[in-house]
Amino acid sequence: MTELAYLAEISDAYVRTFRARVVSLPPGGVVLDRTYFYPTGGGQPSDRGFLVLNDGGRLEVVDVSKSGPSVIHRVKGPAAVLARLVAGAEVEGSIDWPRRLMHMRLHSAQHLLSARVFARTGRRTRKANLTGNRAILELDGPVPAEILGPLAEDLAAALDAPREVSIRRVPRADWDRNPASERSGLVPLPAHVDPVRVVEINGLDVCPCGGTHVRSTGELGRVTLLPPVALPDGASRLELRLEETATPGPSG
Ligand SMILES: [Zn+2]
Repeated sequence: MTELAYLAEISDAYVRTFRARVVSLPPGGVVLDRTYFYPTGGGQPSDRGFLVLNDGGRLEVVDVSKSGPSVIHRVKGPAAVLARLVAGAEVEGSIDWPRRLMHMRLHSAQHLLSARVFARTGRRTRKANLTGNRAILELDGPVPAEILGPLAEDLAAALDAPREVSIRRVPRADWDRNPASERSGLVPLPAHVDPVRVVEINGLDVCPCGGTHVRSTGELGRVTLLPPVALPDGASRLELRLEETATPGPSG
């Protein structure tokens, strides 16, 4: 079992290095007792980075995935270093920060865009995918191309007058009684999720989510929107792009 240390508070998403203990070594992978590496899920790609042994040996983390209650870090490195990695050993994890920060900015930007699309058109996001510097939203119906201007203004407004992004936990029973029925997303919440981790963009959006986010919409940078594309089943796709240059986060 791996403690998902990146999940607890919004500040935990900014942790770049951490210490952990090796629990087990499935073929090609490492399970730690705790991790700040984000495993692929919810449309957000996994983190990359390094695991450093106490003797200085370095292994590259090339992929991170969930397997039941454990997180598996797929590693590559010299055979001699791999051979020295044993259960019980302590390692330092170090996260590829530019990649992670881009995913945090993209994920918050996606929530913001989903909320504004819903507010302006009533269309909900049925799926979202983050890749490179792009977030791709699949909406549950068509949207007119003229919506781009007002949406771009909404995004610029959230950059000029930043909104706080926060995380709280809501007991499942309370969420089911009052599920923020106006939520902009359509992805169903699995039955076992309790409490519900809710990501809130102050005054704009409330959404259950297990991803990593920035603290403020002021960290998103300039957002470019592409014209909506109609999909064969009547749905539509909307894409946003962020500038590569990341706003520097606090060191962690
Ligand atoms: Zn999310």
